[in-house]
Amino acid sequence: MTSITASHAADLVAALLFILSLAGLSQHRTSRAGVGYGIAGMALALVATVVLAAQSITAGAVALIVVAMALGGAIGLWRARRVEMTQMPELIAVLHSFVGLAAVLVGWNSYLEVESHGSAQTRIGTDLLGIHHAEVFIGIFIGAVTFTGSIVAFLKLSGRIASRPLTLPGKNALNLGALGAFAVLTVWFTVSPDLALMTAVTVLALALGWHLVASIGGGDMPVVVSMLNSYSGWAAAAAGFLLDNNLLIVTGALVGSSGAYLSYIMCKAMNRSFLSVIAGGFGIEAPSSGDEEQGEHREVRAGEVAELLARARSVVITPGYGMAVAQAQHPVAELTRRLRGRGVEVRFGVHPVAGRLPGHMNVLLAEAKVPYDIVLEMDEINDDFAGTSVVLVIGANDTVNPAATEDPASPIAGMPVLRVWEAEHVVVFKRSMASGYAGVQNPLFFRENSSMLFGDAKQSVEEILQALGGGGGASDPAAHQTAAAG
Ligand code: NDP
Repeated sequence: MTSITASHAADLVAALLFILSLAGLSQHRTSRAGVGYGIAGMALALVATVVLAAQSITAGAVALIVVAMALGGAIGLWRARRVEMTQMPELIAVLHSFVGLAAVLVGWNSYLEVESHGSAQTRIGTDLLGIHHAEVFIGIFIGAVTFTGSIVAFLKLSGRIASRPLTLPGKNALNLGALGAFAVLTVWFTVSPDLALMTAVTVLALALGWHLVASIGGGDMPVVVSMLNSYSGWAAAAAGFLLDNNLLIVTGALVGSSGAYLSYIMCKAMNRSFLSVIAGGFGIEAPSSGDEEQGEHREVRAGEVAELLARARSVVITPGYGMAVAQAQHPVAELTRRLRGRGVEVRFGVHPVAGRLPGHMNVLLAEAKVPYDIVLEMDEINDDFAGTSVVLVIGANDTVNPAATEDPASPIAGMPVLRVWEAEHVVVFKRSMASGYAGVQNPLFFRENSSMLFGDAKQSVEEILQALGGGGGASDPAAHQTAAAG
C-alpha cells in the first residue's frame, strides 16, 4: 500500500517535471534546464515503475527488466553520441517508430492475456470487457500507423527513398476507406473479439501509416515529423490505458497535444492546411516536377565575393541545410564579426523550416556565438531585402525559392519563402546545381542579380575571410576559440 502511494507521488512529480521540461524547451535561454527536467522526470518515472512492478513479479523478471533497460540505455547513449546534427530528424523518426511498435505489442499482449486467462483472472472485470477491447483495437491502430509512417519518414529523411509524394489513383478515397473500415472493425471487435479482426486492423493500420506519409511531398516533411511525434504520444497514451499506467497516459497526452500544436504552428508558417497534411496530402493535386531547365547561371569566385562584401552597406545571411552539412557556422560567425568590424550592417534571416529540424539554424548560430539580436525570423526580415546590398545564401535552397510565390504548379507553391532575390546582389553558396530537399529546381540561381559560388560552404567562407584579410581565418584554431569564448 505504502509503495503504491509512493509510486503515485513519484508519478505526479514526474508529470510536473515533464510539464516544466516542455516550458523550458520553448525558449533558447531555458532549453538546457528544460532538457534537465525531462531527464529527471524520465529517470524518476522509470525507477518508480520498476519498483512498483517488483512487488508483483519474480526477482528473475525484475532482473530481466534491468538488463533490458541497461541494454536499451547503452544503445541509446551510443547512438546519441554518434549522431550528426543533420541526422537528428532521422533519429527522431526511428524513435517514434519504436513507440508505435511498442503500442502495437502492448495491444496484442493485452488481447492475448485476456483471451488465454479470461477476464476474471486479469484486472479487467466482465463489465469493462467491451471498453478494454476498444482500447486494444484503438491502441493497435494508432501504434501501427505511427510505426510504418515513421519508417517511411526515416527513409525519406535519410534519402533512402525519394522525397516526392506517392500519388496512387484515388489516394484520398483509399485513406477515407481505411478510416471507415477501422470504425466498422472496432464496433465488430467489441462485440466479438476475434483474432482475425486483430490481424485485419493491424495490417490495415500498417498499410495506412505507410500510405499517409508516402503521399506527402518533401517540402511538407517538417510537418510530418512533428505530426508523427504527436501520433507517438497518442500511441503511448493508448498503451498507458492498457497497462493501467497513469503516468504513461499523462506523458502520452503531453507529447500528443504539444506535437499536434507544433504541427499546427508549422502548417501556418508554411501556409499549408493542417487537416490536409494530417490526412496524407488530402485535396492536394499532383504537382509539376518543377525541375525544368531555367537558363544560364553565373559563377563567381571567393575573391570577387570578398570585394562585393567590402563595398556593401548591408548584408543579410540566409543559412540553410548546407551550412549544417558543411559545419560552416564558425567561419560564418567570424565573417559576421569581420564585416561588422568594418561598419557593414550584418543580419541573419532564418526560415522556420530551414535545415532539417525546427530551430536547426538557430542552434548552429547560437553555438557559434552569433548575437541573438541580429538573428531575425523570416517575417521580421522579408521586407528588408529590397534595401539590402548583398544576400549570402549559405547552403539554403527550398527556403529561398521564388517558385513558391510565382509558380502555382510548383510542389512548394504557397509556402512563404525568404525573398532574397529583391536584394541588389545574391550570392548562392552550394556545391552544384542540384535541387534542395523538396526536389524542385530553383529559378533564383538563374536571376540577373544572382551568382553561384560553388564548393563546400565552410571552405568558401574561409576563402572569403582570407581574401578580406585583417585577422586569422576561422580555420585557425585560435580563431575558433575566440569565437567560442564569444
Ligand atoms: P535545402 O534542403 O532545400 O537545400 C540545401 C542545399 O544545401 C542543397 O541544395 C545543397 O546543394 C546544399 N549543400 C549541401 N551540402 C553542402 C555543403 N557542404 N556546402 C554547401 N552547400 C551544401 O535547404 P533549406 O534549408 O533551404 O530547406 C530545408 C528543406 O528541408 C525544406 O524543403 C524543408 O521543408 C525540409 N525539411 C525541413 C525540416 C525542418 O524541420 N526544418 C524537416 C524535414 C525537412 P548541393 O548539393 O549542390 O551542395
